[in-house]
Parts: sequence; C-alpha cells; structure tokens
Amino acid sequence: MPENLAENIECALFRIKRASLRAGRDPGQIKLIAVSKTVPAERLKEAFDCGVADFGENRIQEAKTKMDSLAGLPVRWHFIGHLQTNKAGAAVEMGFELIHSVDSERLLYMLEKLAARAGRIQRALIEVKLSGEPAKHGVSEEFFPGLLRACREAPHIRIEGLMTVPPYSSDPEDARPYFARLRALKEKAEEEGFTLPHLSMGMSHDFEVAIEEGATMVRIGTAIFGGRQK
Ligand SMILES: *Cc1c(COP(=O)(O)O)cnc(C)c1O
Repeated sequence: MPENLAENIECALFRIKRASLRAGRDPGQIKLIAVSKTVPAERLKEAFDCGVADFGENRIQEAKTKMDSLAGLPVRWHFIGHLQTNKAGAAVEMGFELIHSVDSERLLYMLEKLAARAGRIQRALIEVKLSGEPAKHGVSEEFFPGLLRACREAPHIRIEGLMTVPPYSSDPEDARPYFARLRALKEKAEEEGFTLPHLSMGMSHDFEVAIEEGATMVRIGTAIFGGRQK
C-alpha cells in the first residue's frame, strides 16, 4: 500500500504517543526509527518528506547505496543488523548515527581501532540476546557484563544503551518479559556506574509493549513501508 505511507507514519506516531501517555511517559522521549531494509531509496525520500529523519538498515552495501541516493538530506542512519568485523571499517566510515548491534569484544575492539584511526567517536548500543535462539545475534546475558566492562577500554566507542530482538510471537504480550529483562539489565548496569540512557526495543507488532517497558527507540518497518519482498 505505497500510497498510504503518510498515513502509516502518522498512525505509528499516534500509537507511539498513545502508548507513552498510557505508560506515564513523555512521547518526546521515544524516537521512531523507520526500518527501511529492502525498501527503495525513493520511498525513503517520501518518508523523509513526511517527517521521518531516522532510518534503520541491516546491510552495509544496501545502506551505502541509499546514503548516496539521499546525500544532502539531514537523515540519520542506524545500523540495526549483525555487523561482521570485516565490515566494521565501512560502518565507521559511513557515519552511522548509531550502531545498535555491538555483540562481541572482538567487534568492539575492531570498531574502537577504526574509530580512533578516523578520529571519531562512534555511538553504539550493545545487542543482548535474551532467548536461546541459535539463529539470533547478540551477546548472551552471561557475557554481557564482560562486554560492558570492555567498553571502558574503548574510548572512541560511546555505548549509550542496549538493544534486543525477542523471539517472534504473534502475541505482543509474549515479548513483554524480554523487554522488562533488557530494562533490568540496563538499570543494574547504571547502578554499577555505566550511563545507558537508551533502550532500542520494539518492532511493528510489539512496539507499544516495548514503550510500556521503557523503550526509547522503536524500530518499525512493515507498519510504515508495508510487507517486505525478501
Ligand atoms: C527488520 C527489523 C526490524 C523491523 O521489523 P518490522 O517487523 O518490519 O517492524 C526491527 N529491528 C530489526 C533488528 C530488524 O531486523
């Protein structure tokens, strides 16, 4: 339903606002990231014209093509996919606003080295895998504290929070314990002196539950751009 883009965006923003108010939160504290993977650049331009300025991509090459197409527009790009260490250099050079998916010390140190070389501070989140699903990426809860401590030795990587993708379920309530768990990890880390303002959690089918559980960024694809082909 391409012609409904403006309506979809408006509807998503309205639902974000409603969920925030229901949870007693300020809607201004929640950022909408339009997940534009597989969506052609022209559609991103249309979304931008409707007021969306944050886009989420999960492939480096695809993101690069779209960055070129939208060059000159004040758009913020988020990398939300699994980042292979051999693509870390490209990711840093491309100037992503935020890399949501730091999930190993190896990747962290690679990013640190490349950001230092580029003379940049790279903002990032740690992706935590809270389910045992083998196909999913993210650091396990067991290794999360070690990875967080390692961030202290990476002065060019500014870790600003946590991200997670719960197991898919058609019932958004099934995601609630995972979102609550991510928030608990963040709060515990903050008690230990880390500053982690952000929780990137919630997708098209469960973002309202994520907001109720403390999300500061929701990553919404299909509810904005419609179903994906691939
Ligand atoms: C694709 C994707 C999304 C968006 O999913 P929708 O269900 O289309 O909203 C969010 N986060 C990540 C990490 C994704 O890969």
